[in-house]
Amino acid sequence: MIRLYDTLAREKRPFVPLNPERITMYVCGPTVYGRAHIGNARPPVVFDTLARLIRHEFGANSLVYARNVTDVDDKIIASAAEEGVEPSVITERYERLYLGDMRALGVPPPDIAPHATGEIAPMIALIERLVGLGNAYEAEGHVLFSVPSDPDYGVLSRRDREQLIAGARVEVAPYKRDPADFVLWKPSPDGVIGWDSPWGRGRPGWHIECSAMIKAHLGETIDIHGGGLDLIFPHHENEIAQSRCAHAGAPLARFWVHNGFVDMGAEKMSKSLGNIVTPAELLARGHRGETLRLALLSAHYRQPLPWTEALVEQSKAILDRLYRAAGDAPAGGIDSEVVDALSDDLNTPAALGRLHAIDDPAVLKASAGLLGLLSDTADNWFRGGADEAAVETRIAERAEAKKSRDFATADRIREELKAEGIILEDGPAGTTWRRE
Ligand SMILES: [Zn+2]
Repeated sequence: MIRLYDTLAREKRPFVPLNPERITMYVCGPTVYGRAHIGNARPPVVFDTLARLIRHEFGANSLVYARNVTDVDDKIIASAAEEGVEPSVITERYERLYLGDMRALGVPPPDIAPHATGEIAPMIALIERLVGLGNAYEAEGHVLFSVPSDPDYGVLSRRDREQLIAGARVEVAPYKRDPADFVLWKPSPDGVIGWDSPWGRGRPGWHIECSAMIKAHLGETIDIHGGGLDLIFPHHENEIAQSRCAHAGAPLARFWVHNGFVDMGAEKMSKSLGNIVTPAELLARGHRGETLRLALLSAHYRQPLPWTEALVEQSKAILDRLYRAAGDAPAGGIDSEVVDALSDDLNTPAALGRLHAIDDPAVLKASAGLLGLLSDTADNWFRGGADEAAVETRIAERAEAKKSRDFATADRIREELKAEGIILEDGPAGTTWRRE
């Protein structure tokens, strides 16, 4: 029996899916305008591990896992304007790089990856519905959600009204009836990406995106909604309000699962603080994706994870030991204590600890696999060569550099890979590689 801590209930509860043959999980995905940092990589690794556990418990085809791509956003628009390109140039570039980084961390693409720009019609339909029900209103080309129209608003973050207004960091805008109201739709001036709507040409706000995509792809009520702690307010609070009001009170998610931050020194790792380290940099320095994955799973997902160079070194040493113990055994059965540890609110530190006590190499290989570890051959691991996913990530980066005519970077990546014994060959169908 899997037990998960539910942020809404404030307690660990047995995870009993609505339909065990179609378990639904949605995790808020990246806004694609820059490289992911290690803090951004924690939710995809945590929820990939949860997905592996659910598939182990309920069957390989039991789970539908959706992670969205936010590809329309003010930061994307600003960065496209800065480069003098269409927003799609920015979003396609960073989505490719994101998927490459995730592959290196052993995170396969989710089952469904809806893109905001491909889902405008369901968003407009949801907004129209909220307007019709009196939960939203139009003002000066904007459509806003009326927070006072929802008596249950604040249920997830449990903030009182003063905290809501302060915490929302809401811009004071003359068209708002209430300072806590938030934007569902906003106007796009000429030259800015936009779509026709009943309220004029414009674009969606961020929160409505997830509510509309969840309804379109997974249903009105899903089993698990996940994301980082920082999304509880306002993002998830707003998702809940929109969806519940539009769907006659049906809850949006049965379990709200949130991961803690990755810290650098005393602070949360964040782009705005400028204290970030990216998987791309760490891979370029020769660390393996699996080492970074183990480091990200070394603390319980709800706890803060202090990121240090020592943590990375320690994770590498642990993997060396595990690869030595597993050798080249084929994967066997999975150890029940590893499953029990993960089933207890995804207790990865306990599961990792248990791996050391397993003396059957085949069981060790399979049990580590449940955490997405020991995916390489021992031979390749100890040869010290870059792992395949990391090479692919570096090749994707080099292709982007060439595209933006940054040949110095492209050459540097070729040389770095050569130093690791990887030879690149450019051909008409792209770049292939071989080991020296
Ligand atoms: Zn979301």
